[in-house]
Amino acid sequence: MASPAPLPPAEADPGARLVLAEHLLACESAVACARAVVEWLARRHGVPAACVGPGDGAGASACLASEGLTGAQQAALARAWDAQGSPLAGFRNRPGARGLAADAVEGAVMPGGFFAVPLGRAGAPAAALLVVGLPGPAVPEDVAWVASCAGPLLARQLASDARAPRRPEPDRLLRRVINAVSDPVLLTDTDGTLLFANARAEALLVAGPDASPGRTRAVELNQRLFRETLAQGGTSVHRREVSLVDPLEGMDLLFELATTPVLAPDGPSVVVSVLRNLTDLGRATQALGESYRQLRATEREARSERHRLDRVLDSVADPIILTDPAGGMVMMNDPAERLFAWPHEEGAGGEATLRRVRANDALFASFLTNLLGPVNAGVSRWKSQLTLDDPATGAPVPMEAMANKVLGDGGELTGIVTVFHDRTEVLERARLLERVKEVSSELEARVQSATAELAEQNELLRRQAIQLEQASAAKSQFLANMSHEFRTPLNAILGYTNMLLQGVSGEMTPPQRRNLTRIDSNGRHLLEVINEILDITRIEAGRMPLHLSDFGIPELIQEVMAEMDPIIARSKLTVETRLDEGLPGVWSDRQKVKQIVLNLLSNALKFTHEGGVHIAAEYQNATGTVAISVKDTGIGIDVSNQEKIFEDFQQVDSSPTRAYGGTGLGLSICRRLAEMLGGRVSLQSAPGQGSTFTLHFPRRARRT
Ligand code: ADP
Repeated sequence: MASPAPLPPAEADPGARLVLAEHLLACESAVACARAVVEWLARRHGVPAACVGPGDGAGASACLASEGLTGAQQAALARAWDAQGSPLAGFRNRPGARGLAADAVEGAVMPGGFFAVPLGRAGAPAAALLVVGLPGPAVPEDVAWVASCAGPLLARQLASDARAPRRPEPDRLLRRVINAVSDPVLLTDTDGTLLFANARAEALLVAGPDASPGRTRAVELNQRLFRETLAQGGTSVHRREVSLVDPLEGMDLLFELATTPVLAPDGPSVVVSVLRNLTDLGRATQALGESYRQLRATEREARSERHRLDRVLDSVADPIILTDPAGGMVMMNDPAERLFAWPHEEGAGGEATLRRVRANDALFASFLTNLLGPVNAGVSRWKSQLTLDDPATGAPVPMEAMANKVLGDGGELTGIVTVFHDRTEVLERARLLERVKEVSSELEARVQSATAELAEQNELLRRQAIQLEQASAAKSQFLANMSHEFRTPLNAILGYTNMLLQGVSGEMTPPQRRNLTRIDSNGRHLLEVINEILDITRIEAGRMPLHLSDFGIPELIQEVMAEMDPIIARSKLTVETRLDEGLPGVWSDRQKVKQIVLNLLSNALKFTHEGGVHIAAEYQNATGTVAISVKDTGIGIDVSNQEKIFEDFQQVDSSPTRAYGGTGLGLSICRRLAEMLGGRVSLQSAPGQGSTFTLHFPRRARRT
């Protein structure tokens, strides 16, 4: 697009002239050239100015450009330039500027007078006349300069305009009108060369020589975009959008470009382009789109919130119903649907189901009526117990219903939320609790009676124990008495037998002696039994006190050995003793220790056929006890009998045909005596491998 930059202010003289000169050189038409000159002078001096020249085709002259003059004044000037003999016509063939009176031209009065300056090449008739509303008489220097500078150029342009087809130039009024249009309006030829741009369009598409680099770049970009968009539309009437840049602020601007080709009958076509700023519209559309998107997002959010609420409600095991202020159901969760809604599934339910659903609905409605009634206007919550029917099975469902009024911002009722709570479990629990209470009181009664019975039994047992104790004491007393009664005659028998055997009554025949010996032996055995029974009864009756004294173990064992010597001799067994060297003296019941050891040694000799018996005594410092053991190589005792033999009258072989004599009381007496000493008797034995009986007792006995 070839278009001179708009004229700069005409104050700075040399610079302003240079700019005007460059501008004039860039002008492609006489009109543009004339306009540049007129504007420059008018602006510089603040006075009206005009340039009159060849008119548009018909032969009459016209105002090529004017500033500060009405259309009538312009026409008057053109007429005066053409009219023979008029003051202006005289300038056609006479060079040089001259001042004229204010009313020199009829119809174009300029207060204070004006200058007329013929424009053209030197030596040739003036091609145009420059009129400047400055008072005379001296021609201002810049007017003369402008005339000399612009004259030849204008003449050349006019000549070339005359050869080239004339491009139309909107007149000043039209230009003003178009300038007043708030939208950018452009006039271009068909190849896009800008012929005219209103102020708005110039702000976008024209940059002067002194424009900032930023503005120049923006304008160049806009020109390119505009040209490209224009080229898309061809020469037809067209509307499309074009994005341009605001050269001032650098913002993107969106325009609708409406192009209309205008076919001039006598010249080339021109294109009128009107740009309509859509930026605000675009922004509004964008904002509208944004709010629409937000609306959609809100709607989506609300929908998903509703789904979430539905899911939450459905996940609640308790039935929940939302009703409107009139009591109409708005929403219910799955558990509520099972009670209050007709089953949707094909073939589900029947007449009975429907009846139960209706009955439930009726119950619910009457429940709500209570809350909605005028009596409860100020009540926000309502609780009641209803027994609904399970529509599927008909089973009664005890429910607690809790309704809450939902109030709006203004306190008005917007809905009612009712939550049901199944009371079946609560009732069942209460029933079970009742039952447990019953059972527990039954149990308590039974325990009481059992306790009473037990107490009775205890009393009975206590009496029996007393009776037993008394009986036992009586028995012991009886046995003691009896033993004593037996012992006295028996001792007498043994005494007399002994005397007879010693020949006090004369010699006896061998058979007599043999029989008497048997009487003596049996009598002794009987005495032994009686003595043992007497011992047990005395121990049990607590009539065998401890006689504690200091004594030495070696002496005691020696005594035992001495007493047993005849039997040892008869047995042909070896009997050895091994006593610890440092055996301390003991404080205990010597007689009882001796009786135990005697008994153990007597048993060892009785149940051992070959080998020997070994008696050992040691002191166990750690426990403070003395251990006297009697070890034999006899028949031994099976483990199963090792407990039993310590009980009264118990023997390993208790058959009538047993091989060994004895009463089975010896070991039980030993056990009792050892316990009296604060000790015990232990046994290690195995059949065929001998036995070791050991008496353990404290070195220092404690009187109990
Ligand atoms: P008695 O010897 O009078 O039968 P005891 O009470 O002294 O009564 O012994 C009970 C039983 O223990 C004996 O009959 C015997 O069977 C068994 N017994 C005791 N000492 C020994 C032993 N040293 N070897 C094997 N058996 C024994």
